[in-house]
Amino acid sequence: MLTKLKSISLGNWILIGMFLGLIVGLIVNFYVTDPYIKNIILMDNVFYLGGTLFIKLMKMLVVPLVFFSIVVGVASISDIKTIGTIGGTTILIYLLTTAVAITLALIIGIVLQPGAGLHMTALADASNVTTNQTLPGAILNMVPENPFNSLANGDMLPVIIFGLLIGIILAKLREETEIMNKAFTECNRIMMEMTAIVMKFAPIGVFCLMAKTFGSLGLEGIMPLGKYFICVLIGLAIQAFVVYPSLLVILTRLNPINFFKKFIPVMFFAFSSSTSNATIPLNMDKLYEMGVSRDVSSFTIPLGATINMDGTAIMQGVAVMFAAQAYGIDLGTSALLTVIFTAVMASIGTAGVPSVGLITLTMVFNSVGLPIQAIGVIFGIDHILDMFRTAVNVTGDAICTIIVSLRNKEMDVDIYNGKKQPKEEKHIM
Ligand code: ASP
Repeated sequence: MLTKLKSISLGNWILIGMFLGLIVGLIVNFYVTDPYIKNIILMDNVFYLGGTLFIKLMKMLVVPLVFFSIVVGVASISDIKTIGTIGGTTILIYLLTTAVAITLALIIGIVLQPGAGLHMTALADASNVTTNQTLPGAILNMVPENPFNSLANGDMLPVIIFGLLIGIILAKLREETEIMNKAFTECNRIMMEMTAIVMKFAPIGVFCLMAKTFGSLGLEGIMPLGKYFICVLIGLAIQAFVVYPSLLVILTRLNPINFFKKFIPVMFFAFSSSTSNATIPLNMDKLYEMGVSRDVSSFTIPLGATINMDGTAIMQGVAVMFAAQAYGIDLGTSALLTVIFTAVMASIGTAGVPSVGLITLTMVFNSVGLPIQAIGVIFGIDHILDMFRTAVNVTGDAICTIIVSLRNKEMDVDIYNGKKQPKEEKHIM
């Protein structure tokens, strides 16, 4: 029995933790009536502590892991032109997939009419979600004024830029900076080991996160917004299971089934944690298992977690149509184009953390004059949608990384197809 349990992989343990958490959460929600046991002991203490502790541990890894792995990755690609090509194509594919995602969402919104017949003002009052991010501001924020501040605050884009620069310089100075080169490589190795240790707690962490979410979920809130909810899910499903596999087949001729077979645990992890940022270490590791060079993924995955949020864009597209229909506002073609542009821009520079999509949604609403109160209405059910869209966000990052790696000869297709094993034996899961 014990040996059988031991043979279950960490990925499967995470799935088990997730489903058990869901079931326990629902049981607590419906059958535990004592508010002290339910809310105080279980929700606010046991599940909250277990879940938050794990997310904090994952977050603890992100900045040093991303920083060291970018430095090491870039330093090992000695050709600066290759870095430029990889960076350029990655950003382009990220932006294009986001534009496809939001267009898809707008079409779903136009066809399925999620907000038709709703009287918004009757549903809820104003939201307090605001944003003051502008496009020049977002671009300027990418440059670290003080790199140590950026590292300390976990501002991903400046950290990426600073890491890139150090990597390029190490590659250029090579012999002169041999000791530093080695030091960064060893720091990176330490962070990877730490990630593997923290991930051992993932099944318990994921269990607590799921139990807390489903234990305190009020299903009443979902009902009036059922159509909106379903439209977002349809959009996410099309993006994940039609758009991405098609891209993979058309641009790389790789079999998408192999991808999903290996990648599903990462999607579930993103689902339970609602944060692409905390999923970075896992995503990079899974891609390595699929034959993608760490040199590329160490740069594209953290970048994607920040600038590529296709799932979030889908929620935003449906939300725009929902609000427009509920308020009886007719959005013309130019307004829809503005929505596409703003949503793509809004995703740049916002970290992949829970609920950030709702904050950038205010930018999108403002761009076409939709009432911000509508965001307050969807606020109540956003947590669950956040889980689904985060799973799509991380899938988009991985798919784009595979495309870019393969096209730049930074991927071993034999490993992807299971004909060969990756060099490093040890994986996180
Ligand atoms: N939670 C999402 C992520 O981390 C972002 C969002 O849509 O709110 O990718």
